[in-house]
This record gives sequence, structure tokens and C-alpha cells, in this order.
Amino acid sequence: MASHNDKRVHIATFGCQMNAYDSERMAGMMAHMGYTPVQNPDQADLIVLNTCSVRRRAEEKVYSYVGELKRLKREKPWLIIGVGGCVAQQEGYSLLRRLPHLDFVFGPDAVTSLPELVTQALQGKRQARTQLGPPPGPAGIIVPADPGLRAMVTVMTGCDNFCSYCVVPYVRGRERSRPAGEILDEVAALVAAGVREITLLGQNVNSYHDPDGGLDFAGLLARVNDVEGLWRIRFTTSHPKDLGQGLIDALAGLDKVMEQMHLPAQSGSNRLLKAMNRGYTREQYLEQVRRLREKVPQVALGSDIIVGFPGETQKDFEQSLSLLSEVRYDFLYSFKYSDRPFTKAGRLEGKLDEDTKGSRLVQLQALQRAIGLEEHQAQAGRVEELLVEGPAKHGQGLMSGRSRAGRVVNFPGPPELAGRLVMVRVTQGRENSLAGELLPATGEYTA
Ligand code: SF4
Repeated sequence: MASHNDKRVHIATFGCQMNAYDSERMAGMMAHMGYTPVQNPDQADLIVLNTCSVRRRAEEKVYSYVGELKRLKREKPWLIIGVGGCVAQQEGYSLLRRLPHLDFVFGPDAVTSLPELVTQALQGKRQARTQLGPPPGPAGIIVPADPGLRAMVTVMTGCDNFCSYCVVPYVRGRERSRPAGEILDEVAALVAAGVREITLLGQNVNSYHDPDGGLDFAGLLARVNDVEGLWRIRFTTSHPKDLGQGLIDALAGLDKVMEQMHLPAQSGSNRLLKAMNRGYTREQYLEQVRRLREKVPQVALGSDIIVGFPGETQKDFEQSLSLLSEVRYDFLYSFKYSDRPFTKAGRLEGKLDEDTKGSRLVQLQALQRAIGLEEHQAQAGRVEELLVEGPAKHGQGLMSGRSRAGRVVNFPGPPELAGRLVMVRVTQGRENSLAGELLPATGEYTA
């Protein structure tokens, strides 16, 4: 067993950016308790799984991972294992019953209880903490010791939309916005720790409403834009039905807000959009895209598409394909539909077989790859501002950064550029990234 001063924690994160954000907070809390993070679960004294139940495959992965930890617990009986996130919320105490090697279970609203849960687990207490609603006391600002250049800040939790396929309103609860003052304090603390780019997170940021002062999301962006020392702001996710002119104007007018938006369509078929309870038609969605591009022509658009929703016909599917061709997204997350607990779609007739869903997904992704490559190739010759993150994953002597629109650009340059803003000219568009060359004016853009 590790000595008192040598405790190690492994946090395994599944799912979305909200979970990644919660995991960062957990790591910060565990650091305060004297735990050092480790990549390898075999070396840990505490393992925390931050789980996702949005798709069945993600949930299955969690169960197989937890199952494998049984061996570790046998070898190291002092090992503490906790399961957090959406699967924990969904299953609650029954997880502890089914998996005797687990010590505690906690939902997304109980993240700040982690130190207490760990302390009590060390004293032998097994428990599930899954009540929804704000935790007692202040949410707390937890800044990681070395947060890096980019960080996330949650502006709201939960969702009131009840899309018919989605488990989020059941496992994350109803929509709750965080007070703007608390968000601004967290942004300022992160900037003081060296962060230069913030991504504001929420299931539906467009319906943000400051409970203390009445600011809407565009107003919040304006306040974050004023934070000194911060260079870049991104946000996700925007629900198409709630995309108002104020937010479009903020994207166009606020210098630190990057020209990128994730605007999930989910389907191109009006019949399915209705069955999904999305609250807009294809035509209304396209009108939102048109309004956005009219004001911010350089905006990079992303989307989610579900294939194989119950009752999806070949014609419905072709309408999703044609939506891709019409909008020409820069990035796309596409998934096969899977039944989720509690949801209305789970009870619908007309489920499609896995082969049909699989072949539609392959077709959709092939179309998006072709569109993405063409869009990237069209960037050749453009001059872009990059925030340099560090050496490129592939290619010697190459550095990598992100453009304002969020595209990855790799270019030859010295390692000292990491953490700086530079200007590059795009020389080539590839499937997943762009190649560029550094422009001599770089010095003017350094921090
Ligand atoms: S907007 Fe719909 S898909 Fe998104 S989290 Fe809410 S219910 Fe789920």
C-alpha cells in the first residue's frame, strides 16, 4: 500500500465535455487530499470512473471496465473504487448491490462530495449519493494545479428539452444556470493560472439565464469577453430552436468569441425531427444557419446526426444526407440510435436492425469525410490566427495549434511558440487538419 504521502488516483473519463470538466474538478479536489494522478489504474489507490449513459455502447464500456477492476481489488484490498457520472445517477444503489467491489456511487450533482465519499470509504462506508439538485454550500471553484492553455467552465447543468431519445434530463436533472458572478470568478481564477482559452459548457447554453442578475447567454459572453488576460472563448452546445439574434450578434461582435458553433441538427427529416421532439423543422434549422452565416460568414459549423432512429425510412435517411450536403459542416458527430432507459423513443415501434443502422452510418460518415476534406482544401491560402498548443502529434519539427474556427493547423516552427498566438498561411487542407507556414509578423502576436 502507498504511504500516507504517496497516494495515487486514477480518474477514467467516459462521454462528453461536461464529464471531462467534472473530472478536472475531481482531480483538483483529490490533489487537495494529497492524491497524485496516475495514468495506469494498476498503480492507483483510488480509482474514480466518470461515466456516460447517453449511448448504450458507452454504458456497456463502463460495465466492462468496472468488471475488470474486480481483479485489482482482489490484489489490493485497500483500493477504493467509486463510480460517478450518468450511469451512477441512472443506477444508484443498485450498482453497489450488483458490484460488491465498488465502494461508492455518486451522480453528477454530487461531484463536490467526492472528498467526503473517499474519506468515508476509507472508513469502510459504502454508499450511493445520487439526489439531483444543487449540492449544499457553494459550488466552489476548483482550479487544477497546472490547467494548461485551455479549460472548460460549466455555465449550466441539466436540460428541460426532453428530446425523445435522450437520457440527459433524467440523469442530469432539470436545467439550472450558474450565477454569472461565480462563472466570472472561475474564469478569472483559471486565467490567473495561465489559461488562455475558455470553453463555456452547458447542454443548451442558448437558454442560459443568470439566476442573480438576469443576464442571458449573449450578455454572459460579453462579460467573459472583458476578462483581462483571456484570449479566446468558445461555447457548446447551442440548441437550434433557441439560437437568437443576440447570440449571433455576440459571435459577430465580440473579439474573443471564436467563430465556431456546434448546432446539432440530429436529422434532416421533418417527420423524424418531430418524433425526436426537437422543436424545429428542417426549414427552420436551415434558416438559423443562413442567419448565422449572413452575420458571421467565416463561422465553422458542427452538428450531431443520429442514424436509425425508430421508424427511419430510406427517404428519411436520404434527407439527413442531403442536409449534410446543403449545410456542409466542418465537423460532425454521428451515431447509431440506441434505446436509452426512461426515454419515449425507447418505447417506440419500428426499431431498425443493427446492419441497416451500421451501413447508414458508414454512408453518412463517408459523405462527411468528403465534405470535410473539400472544406479543408478550400482553406488553402487563408491567413489564420493560431493559438499554438505544442508539438504536432505526427511529423518532426512541426508545431500544432487551433485556428479561431477550431481547425487544427500543423506548421514547421520552434517549440518556444507553444502558448503563443501566431499567424500562419494555410498551405494545404487534409482530412483532419490543415498544413500551414508561419508568417513573419509572428512577433507582434506573442503574449
Ligand atoms: S437538448 Fe435534447 S439532446 Fe440535448 S441534452 Fe437536452 S434532451 Fe438531450
